[in-house]
Amino acid sequence: MTCEYLKKASLTSTSDASEVHEIVQSILTDIEAGGDTKAIEYAKKFDKYEGNILLTPEEIEAASALVPEKLKQDIQFAHNNVKRFAQTQKATVSDVELEIVPGMIAGQKAIPVDAAGCYVPGGRYSHIASAIMTVTTAKVAGCRHITACSPPRPGVGVAPAIIYAAHICGADKIMAMGGVQGVAAMTFGLFGLPQANILVGPGNQFVAEAKRILFGRVGIDMIAGPTDSLILADARADAHIVATDLVSQAEHGYNSPVWLVTDNRVLAEKVMELVPELISDLPDVNRENASAAWRDYAEVILCADREEMAATSDDYAPEHLTVQAEDLDWWLDRLTCYGSLFLGEETTVSFGDKATGTNHVLPTSGAASYTGGLSVHKYMKIVTWQRATREGAKPVAQATARIARLEGMEGHARAADVRLAKYFPDETFD
Ligand code: NAD
Repeated sequence: MTCEYLKKASLTSTSDASEVHEIVQSILTDIEAGGDTKAIEYAKKFDKYEGNILLTPEEIEAASALVPEKLKQDIQFAHNNVKRFAQTQKATVSDVELEIVPGMIAGQKAIPVDAAGCYVPGGRYSHIASAIMTVTTAKVAGCRHITACSPPRPGVGVAPAIIYAAHICGADKIMAMGGVQGVAAMTFGLFGLPQANILVGPGNQFVAEAKRILFGRVGIDMIAGPTDSLILADARADAHIVATDLVSQAEHGYNSPVWLVTDNRVLAEKVMELVPELISDLPDVNRENASAAWRDYAEVILCADREEMAATSDDYAPEHLTVQAEDLDWWLDRLTCYGSLFLGEETTVSFGDKATGTNHVLPTSGAASYTGGLSVHKYMKIVTWQRATREGAKPVAQATARIARLEGMEGHARAADVRLAKYFPDETFD
């Protein structure tokens, strides 16, 4: 490849992974031993919260009353879109049945996990959309118990709009607890909750590490690191819109990478000039996040042609991938590694993040090279079954006995032999 870096990231990761691991492991061990009391202690320590942990119906109603009517309609709109998209995805998973040999039937069933624990981040921003994305999808998948948890703000509690969104999307329980303690409470079944079979949702490095440590004991959607985004733009792209979109994703956090890949130097230089101006115009916290992310993690890459742009993008396997270039069908056909793809200037990552209906819980840090994002499928177990007539069992039993003996597994072979002897007493089998 002949790519030229017009801007290169100075950092690729700032988190001290081993330090975070030790902190999270010790909190999990403490909470597993100390139960509800320990979890409450950590909520006091990290979130300065002393209120009720499992919200009552009255608290949910009171919080909902604080949400402005227009915002309620917007939440309902986003929920409807996520629900319809998830329902359509669910229809692609079907039970199947196949007669492998006459009389031997093999089948597949899709069974939703029983209890889902949905993490809704709330440290830096109130991620209303994460409640919609995780809870709605679990509900459509058919989970019987859905818990949503989110960190409370000191003296305030969980943002009312998060409570409202989790409630209307179908959460059975809403817990005012975040971070490692929230993840632990859902996994260990504290506060009378059912033990989660799967933990889903984005979160900071502590939340991600807790999910990583607990994986195996509980299922997880994925280990989500800081949000990342890549824009593919050619000469026809609008530099102002490209720059605005890069800034919109850099505001996620100080370590959220944004990348521009283009085959046009003039566009690249214009975007690099505009981004700092747009960042300087953001409110304080957003400005701090976006300027650190742009300074330390952003990259601008100049490629020779669109084929090289596509290859570079696939190599980065971004969480969010935007194409602002000619011939969108070519890009849709060619690109293979991304969490979610945004084709054309008329759409943007923000739409998918909030309201289009596609899920915003997506693979980060290159994980899009091997997985997609959250969908109904992540909440469903694809299991298999079989049943047979005696005639159907006959050829399978003979093959099984021979394979098992060659493997040295005499017990397996005899499980086949005993059936052949019972069902076909007048025959001999080698
Ligand atoms: P968060 O809810 O993930 O984390 C807040 C919690 O972190 C607090 O409750 C506290 O308990 C815990 N915590 C803070 N400091 C700690 C410490 N020193 N030790 C132990 N625990 C500590 O909220 P956040 O911090 O704002 O992070 C949200 C993350 O989610 C961001 O990285 C954002 O990019 C990401 N996100 C991703 C998506 C996506 O789809 N990929 C969507 C929304 C948000």
